[in-house]
Amino acid sequence: MRVTFLGTGTSHGVPMIGCACAVCRSSDPRNHRLRPAILVEEAGTTVLVDAPPDFRTQALRAGLLRLDAVLLTHAHADHILGMDDLRAFTEKTNRAMPVWATPRCLEAVRRVFAYACTDRPTWVTVPRFELNPLTDAEAIRIGSLEVLPMQLPHGTVEVTGFLFSNRVAYLTDCNDVPADVVARLRGVPVLILDGLRHRPHPTHLTIARAVELAGEIAARQTYLTHICHEVEHAAAEASLPAHVRLAYDGLELEV
Ligand SMILES: [Zn+2]
Ligand SMILES: [Zn+2]
Ligand SMILES: [Zn+2]
Repeated sequence: MRVTFLGTGTSHGVPMIGCACAVCRSSDPRNHRLRPAILVEEAGTTVLVDAPPDFRTQALRAGLLRLDAVLLTHAHADHILGMDDLRAFTEKTNRAMPVWATPRCLEAVRRVFAYACTDRPTWVTVPRFELNPLTDAEAIRIGSLEVLPMQLPHGTVEVTGFLFSNRVAYLTDCNDVPADVVARLRGVPVLILDGLRHRPHPTHLTIARAVELAGEIAARQTYLTHICHEVEHAAAEASLPAHVRLAYDGLELEV
């Protein structure tokens, strides 16, 4: 299985508009973070997790030629506003793109992309979505991938975390990981976890708390994502244990 980090930044991205801090002006490409998304590929199946506003740039950078399905973690703008660009695939294949998310998240998608979620689309140039509801803790199969959805707290809303074929877990935009999810994930080879910044935040994990959770889950390797401009890549990574690294845009993992 291959995982590609298309974006590892928080909602603003890094650099952030209007900011001249050292990280936003850094020449280290690992400090340049587009909004969060990953690609998961296994034996000819390609799945995108979230379609951020940067999706067009990310798809071009990754040389993405085809996509079997899209999984959504939640409907915040930094995770869904690139969905219009999925039309590049739906136009080419003349098939609606399967989109999997909780019923609540799909409701938001229907509202935001009302022009694409009609029974009678007026133009072929709008994307077409096949909206599929997820049930918590009920695995689905997409081609050769088994995908187990798990609910996580993100302030006052819920976010879906995903476990791929028992090998990679992607838990972004969460401020905690419930005990049952910790137990389910124990020993997973690769854990990708929210690690916004050092200072506390009401809807995200601090890096210190993410390191604690990585220890509890005992993943072989943990990568932090959804990182803000307060975190300088090299300096932050130097203070982390070897089994926890910061992800960066373009990082590819073979699991
Ligand atoms: Zn987010
Ligand atoms: Zn900055
Ligand atoms: Zn969010």
